[in-house]
Formats: sequence, C-alpha cells, structure tokens
Amino acid sequence: MSVLDLARAEIRAMAPYSSARMEASGGTVLLNANESAWPPAGADEAAWNRYPDPQPAALVSRLASLYGVGDDQLLVGRGSDEAIDLLVRAFCRAGQDAIVVSPPTFGMYAVSARIQDAAVIEAPLDADFGLDVASLLDAVTPAVKLVFVCSPNNPTGGVVAIDVLETLAKALRGRALLVVDEAYGEFANTASATGLIDRHDHVCVLRTLSKAWALAGARVGSLLANAGVIALLRRIIAPYPLPTPCVDAAMAALAEEATARERIDEVLAERARVASSLAHCPGVREVLPSRANFLTVRFDDAGRVYADLLGKGIVVRDVRRYRGLADALRITIGRAEENDQMLATVCAGAIA
Ligand SMILES: *Cc1c(COP(=O)(O)O)cnc(C)c1O
Repeated sequence: MSVLDLARAEIRAMAPYSSARMEASGGTVLLNANESAWPPAGADEAAWNRYPDPQPAALVSRLASLYGVGDDQLLVGRGSDEAIDLLVRAFCRAGQDAIVVSPPTFGMYAVSARIQDAAVIEAPLDADFGLDVASLLDAVTPAVKLVFVCSPNNPTGGVVAIDVLETLAKALRGRALLVVDEAYGEFANTASATGLIDRHDHVCVLRTLSKAWALAGARVGSLLANAGVIALLRRIIAPYPLPTPCVDAAMAALAEEATARERIDEVLAERARVASSLAHCPGVREVLPSRANFLTVRFDDAGRVYADLLGKGIVVRDVRRYRGLADALRITIGRAEENDQMLATVCAGAIA
C-alpha cells in the first residue's frame, strides 16, 4: 500500500492548475503571463514585475540540502502553516475523516482541521507533558488520516525521541500519516525525524525559517516528505505561493549560516540563564524544561505577572487556556537586555 492511497480520491484524480510560468521557461521575451513589462514604480527590482517560480529551484535545493533530503522531497510554502493546511485538505474528507493531536500543543493543526470539517481527536500528553504513545495509538480510528506530533512541543518545550517516533511510524503504516512538526528543531540538539522519510513513506516533517532563521516576516516553511506526497500537494498549493522578495530574503539568510548558528547558541545560553534566574524568583512555581526558544513558566498568580509585564510594555504569551497549563505563561527568549527587563519585572512583582 502506498501512502497516496490515504489521500482524497478527488485530489489524486485532479489535474493541477497549469500556470503560465510553469508551462514555459527559458525565453527572454515574456509575453505569456499578462505581466507588466516594466518594473513597479518606486522599486528598482526589475524581477518584481514577473510572477515568481511556483517552487523556486535554487531555494528548494538550498533548503533540501540544509535539511538533508532530496529536492523532490521538499515543498516550500508560506510558512509551515501552509503545509499543515495542505496536508489536511489533501488527506481529510470533509465530514468524514479526522486528525489526532496531543494537547497542550500548537493550535494550527486543529484550526486547519476545523476549516476542512475534519474531526479533531485528542490524545493528551501525560502528566509530565511527554507523548502518551499508547493512548495516541488508541485514538487512531479508521477515520484518522493525520497524526500530528510537535517536537519540541509548543508550548511545553519537550522533545519526542527518535526511536519513539519510529515506533509510532511503524504502528501507523497503512493507516495514517505521521506529521512531525520540528519548527523549533534547531534549538533542540536532537535527531530529526527527517531520517525516517526514506524508510517510511507516510512520515512528514515540518520545518520553518520563522524561528531559528529569523524570517518570520518572510513566511517561508518547508514540508519534507515522500516525493509522491510532495507531488500531490504541489497540485493544490496556490500557484505562486512565495513572493519574490521573500525568496530573496530567504536565500540571503541561508547564505549566512554562521550567523544563524551564532544566534541559536546565544538563545541556548540565554535560555539556560533565564531558566535558572526564574527558578529563583518568588512566585514562580516551575520552569518547564525547554528544548525550544521559549520557556513556559508556572506562577502562583500568572494573571498578575502577565498584567505586570504588560504594564511595562513586555508582552508574553498567556497559555492559561491550554490543557494542564492553567497557571502558566510562555516567554520567548529575546536578547539579553530584553530578558533582563522581563526578569526584573517578574521577580520584583512577586516580591512586592
Ligand atoms: C511557529 C510555529 C509554526 C509556524 O511556523 P511558520 O513556518 O511561521 O508558519 C509551526 N509549528 C509550530 C509548533 C510553531 O510553534
């Protein structure tokens, strides 16, 4: 059985939209796409008057080598959010199919599923916010087409070991896709699930330039998967998902890998420093161990800490509505001076 047998039949049968840019390339006089022949007013970027490549070859190659997959195993789109949406739309029939998520976790899986009218089945993390593999597999009914595992998990910060992911992959073969979201993978220092793709055609991995690569504003994310899955999703992705300026920004950042590595190291050092400072602050109940670029922290009075911080112009994420986190805030690791401002307020507020 191929993983594509799990996809919606009408998507498999569908002929993709064939854009002008796809049909012809290599010419020098371009009169095929109803573009303007002039660069836009106020910009000297001549290329902006042309539609971009649907999947810019240079960017695809660069990302594929960065993540260690073949060019045909990568789809680049508007953030990994777009890949989540495409997976749900390609594999879940409205009103019939379902996804499994393990709360507390990233909210977009459920949002994309609800937009598609796919059911969301929850297999909560255990008391220590580890993946509960047995209850997750119990949740996989015949309707389930996608199982989302976020590692490191947002907002709890823990990772799922690669052997656990492989166990899951084996158990899900022929039943559902395993989608491992590694948006924070660069901060985790752990094996990527990418290594499973060649052996398991139903394993997909999400990566993004939004976090460690400092490009949240450019919206560039990747899906790494079996070439057949990538080809299927290319049929339903928007014709020109990536704006030319965003592709250029991504290529520029990816050319400076050393800078990205330095920033990651700085975040890791700050994460350790901030975690131990917070642990000594009165009013802090617990700093959850984190392998990402944030710390989720339990407080005696999280609402007051949130308001105190906001009063100082410091915005953190209120995660109290997430399962098991009714007393917690999620705090992104910023620059050292920003972290110091946050620490001063959190610790002073608790003493007052
Ligand atoms: C931030 C985040 C993303 C979204 O990434 P984009 O590439 O910016 O869409 C995906 N998954 C998780 C868990 C995230 O926290």
